[in-house]
Amino acid sequence: MSLILILFFALIFGTVGAVMAGDRGRSQLAWFIICLIFPLIGNILLAVLSNLNEEKNKKLELQNTKVCPQCAERVQLQAKICRYCQHKFDMTNIPIQTKAIANRDIPALMKQYGIEYHVLKDRFTYKSESFKTFKEAYNFATQAPNNHLQNKHITRNKE
Ligand SMILES: [Zn+2]
Repeated sequence: MSLILILFFALIFGTVGAVMAGDRGRSQLAWFIICLIFPLIGNILLAVLSNLNEEKNKKLELQNTKVCPQCAERVQLQAKICRYCQHKFDMTNIPIQTKAIANRDIPALMKQYGIEYHVLKDRFTYKSESFKTFKEAYNFATQAPNNHLQNKHITRNKE
């Protein structure tokens, strides 16, 4: 009787642990097992540990923003004018690829080139290739279709 009750609670804590882990960017299976073996203790530990999803978002925010030299506020990377102090950014110093990305929005570019983002893996994929950053995937994708078209063009001419 009491064993069944213990198992029942262990399963509940395990399930709660798995859900919590998913929200916090951690392995659901691993935390299901941990919370199953250590009910409550595992859940508390999980709550105390840093939220990996939040950290990821913070990192992404840092990557997609720049510091205004005039007012020291963070603004969007593609911003031409600071939204706090109206400082005009010099866009000529930005590398060409970054500039191309900065001038168009990333979701539209992803759709255009068929680049996908995998949240769980935190990686961008283009066809069978996988990239750590959008810029890498974009650079690859913008070069790959041209090569592909050129090859097609050549084979067509030969026919
Ligand atoms: Zn500013």
